[in-house]
Amino acid sequence: MPSEFDLINTWFNWPNTADSAVITGIGDDAAALAVPAGKQLIVTSDTFIAGVHFPHETKPHAIGHKALAVNLSDLAAMGAEPAWFTLALTLPAYDETWLGDFSLGLKTLAQHHNIQLIGGDTTRGALSITITAMGLSLPEKALLRSGAKHDDQLYVTGTLGDAAAGLAMLQQPLLTRYESCIEQLDYPQPRVQHGRMIGDYATSCLDISDGLLADLQHILTASKVGAVLDLVRIPLSKPLQHMDKKTALRFALSGGDDYELLFSIPLERQKEFERHIQQQSLICYGIGHIDQHIRGIISSEQQPLTPKGYNHFIGTNH
Ligand code: ADP
Ligand code: MG
Repeated sequence: MPSEFDLINTWFNWPNTADSAVITGIGDDAAALAVPAGKQLIVTSDTFIAGVHFPHETKPHAIGHKALAVNLSDLAAMGAEPAWFTLALTLPAYDETWLGDFSLGLKTLAQHHNIQLIGGDTTRGALSITITAMGLSLPEKALLRSGAKHDDQLYVTGTLGDAAAGLAMLQQPLLTRYESCIEQLDYPQPRVQHGRMIGDYATSCLDISDGLLADLQHILTASKVGAVLDLVRIPLSKPLQHMDKKTALRFALSGGDDYELLFSIPLERQKEFERHIQQQSLICYGIGHIDQHIRGIISSEQQPLTPKGYNHFIGTNH
C-alpha cells in the first residue's frame, strides 16, 4: 500500500496555472492564501456520502465532477469567482482505477473553472468526500437570499426536474430511460457564468438543490415576502415534456439536485437584464414574481404550493 503522501502526489497534486495569492498550497501543514485587497472571501462546504448523496454504482469520474460541481454551484449562487478548494477524502481501500477516474473527473471541472486544489485530508473508512470551496467577490456584489422585493421577477437558469427524473429512472428500471436525465444527475454544470452576471442585477439568489419550492421558500423566508409561480412557464426538458404533466411537475417543483440558480430581478431592470443575458448568449427563464401581500407560494391560478424538500433527519420528503 503506497503512503498517503504518494497517493496525494499521484492523484491530487496536478500542475496549476500560477496564482500569486497561493503562498503555500499542498505539502505543508496548511495552505496559506493572500486574499486580494478589497475582495470578500466566500466559503462553502459540502459532504458527499455514498448511498446518501449518490447511488453506490455511480462512476468515480462522475463522483469527482459532482462533488466539486455542487460547491461551485454555491459559489455561483453568491456571485463569487471560484478561487481555491480543499478535499477531505475517506476511502474504503486504495484502488488505483477508482482514484484515477475520480481524480480526472475532479481535475477536468477544476481546470475548466480555474479553481485550484490547495490541500485536504486523506483517511480510510466508508467512502465520503468533503470539499470546501473558496471564491472571491466584491463586497457589494455578494448575492444573498434576503433582498427580494415586491414585484421582483423570478428566474431560473435552466430546465428543472431532470436530475430527479434521472434518479427515478435508475431506481425504477421499468420507467423509460432518458440518458440526458441521468447525465444531468451525474454531471450538473455549475452556473458560474450566470452568477457573475446576475450579481449586477439580482436582489436575491440561491442554487436549487432541494427542489424549486423548498429553495424558493428559503428566499421568501429570508426576504419576508411571498411569491406567485406561473406553472406553465416552468422550463421542462424534452424528456419531461413527454411524461404526464403531473409527474413532470412533481420532479420540477420538488425533485432535488437541479443546481440551477433561482434569483429575483427588480421589475424596472428586467428589460436591461434580459438584453444583457442575450448578449452573453446565456439562457434564463422567467417563472413568476414576488408578492409582498401573500404568504408562501401560490400558482397564478391561486392554488397554494407547498414545499416538500429533502430532509436528511426525517428521511425522504417531509
Ligand atoms: P497533516 O498530517 O499535517 O494533516 P497530511 O499528511 O494529512 O498533513 O497532508 C499533507 C499535505 O497534503 C497537506 O498539505 C494537506 O493539505 C494535503 N492533502 C492531504 N490530503 C489531500 C487530498 N485528498 N487532496 C489534496 N491535498 C491533500
Ligand atoms: Mg491529515
